[in-house]
Amino acid sequence: MPDVTTISSVALAFGAGFAAAWMLLGIRIRSSCLRPEAARGVATPIRTLDEGRRRELESLSREHVLARRIVEERIGRFERMFASFPDPILVLDRHGEVVDANPAAKSLARLESDDDPIDAVNPRPLEVMIGNRTAVRDLLEHVRAVVAGGAEAVRTAEFELESRAAEMGADEATSAFEAVIRTLDEHGRTLLVLHDTTRERDASRLKSEFVAKASHELRTPLSSIHASLEMLADGDLREQAQRAEFLAIAIEETDRLAKLVNDMLDISGIEAGVARPHMAQVDLAEIAIDVVDGLRAAADRRSVDLRLHVQPGLIVEGDPEMLSAVVGNLVGNGLKYVPEGERVTVTVDAEDLTRSVVVTVTDTGLGIPAEDLDRVFDKFYRIKRYERNARGTGLGLNLCRNIVEQVHHGRIGVDSRLGEGARFWFSVPASHPASMAA
Ligand code: ADP
Repeated sequence: MPDVTTISSVALAFGAGFAAAWMLLGIRIRSSCLRPEAARGVATPIRTLDEGRRRELESLSREHVLARRIVEERIGRFERMFASFPDPILVLDRHGEVVDANPAAKSLARLESDDDPIDAVNPRPLEVMIGNRTAVRDLLEHVRAVVAGGAEAVRTAEFELESRAAEMGADEATSAFEAVIRTLDEHGRTLLVLHDTTRERDASRLKSEFVAKASHELRTPLSSIHASLEMLADGDLREQAQRAEFLAIAIEETDRLAKLVNDMLDISGIEAGVARPHMAQVDLAEIAIDVVDGLRAAADRRSVDLRLHVQPGLIVEGDPEMLSAVVGNLVGNGLKYVPEGERVTVTVDAEDLTRSVVVTVTDTGLGIPAEDLDRVFDKFYRIKRYERNARGTGLGLNLCRNIVEQVHHGRIGVDSRLGEGARFWFSVPASHPASMAA
């Protein structure tokens, strides 16, 4: 959630600052108006006054110069703050017309800072600045309420604007803003401070989406375990073989549940920056050999030709368990998504140009449709048409991306065409040039 207190206090600071500066200016102007002869430059010669009056006048004059310097210095300071404040700030007159706007507000309205004067002589309708009729109507209602509410009145409002990215054809449709509207002075002027809350809004949407998807994924194995246990508890299963079958289902679903929860914990731990990797000098070839050995039986069961080409001694700094999980996920996926009799090849090579070690898992399987290529690394994303080919959680590749990019500062990607197999790869910076190929 946006920090309303911060915005409000900044707005208050601006409000109070400007009000003070204008008040002092007012005093200055009023005091010179009260002395028309001073304004006309007709001064009473000081030397004709008695000593006491002369001292008094001199002291008043010194105070006047000092007060003027303070006011000017204050106005300059507030003008600089107003200009450099990153959030858009607008000053509205009592009719809701914009009579001042800082560069951030002008930039929101796509106005050039220097070429577009906005002041009491050149006021702009709020709609020119905000560009969303519904939002403007809503904001003006708040402005009216604040004007009617007097000095202490404050209102907040939320609205959305079409984002620039959306105008350029991107998916991201809107930017979110929170507005704080408060009284600026006794002339009915109001201060409108906008705060871009798009990031907070998107983060909270992502969080809700994650919770919804996670709950959905957890529900499936849970109901399956529940159904199996119910069958066993009812005592209807007389045959030992039948009981064993339902127990096996419950165990399999429990494993699936555990994997799901572990993957979620690992991903959120890395994303939150609380995962504690155990870094060591790791030979990626050794990791690939171990993973392939471990999956050899599964490959044989599906008659998949699992091959390995490694260049030994390619050392990276990394967490061996995490890197092993990445290779395991990629090879495991290769085995899951290729039809029987196809091939999966694992290679470990040096990439001299980027001084990194690259692990590639290439399969001759189904391939990935172009529209899914960017999304297979997203949380819970599974390609619809392959859901029946193999079971999964849709978290494996996201975990791989987190481990490679966040923990090891490497890169991960996929090249594929539908029906032509897939080539998943990741690279991690080599520990030292000596470990690179000659
Ligand atoms: P899952 O647990 O579903 O395998 P992953 O995150 O590992 O989750 O993969 C996400 C999706 O990417 C898979 O559901 C599958 O649709 C697709 N995918 C992954 N690897 C391959 C592959 N080698 N060939 C074709 N599709 C793949």
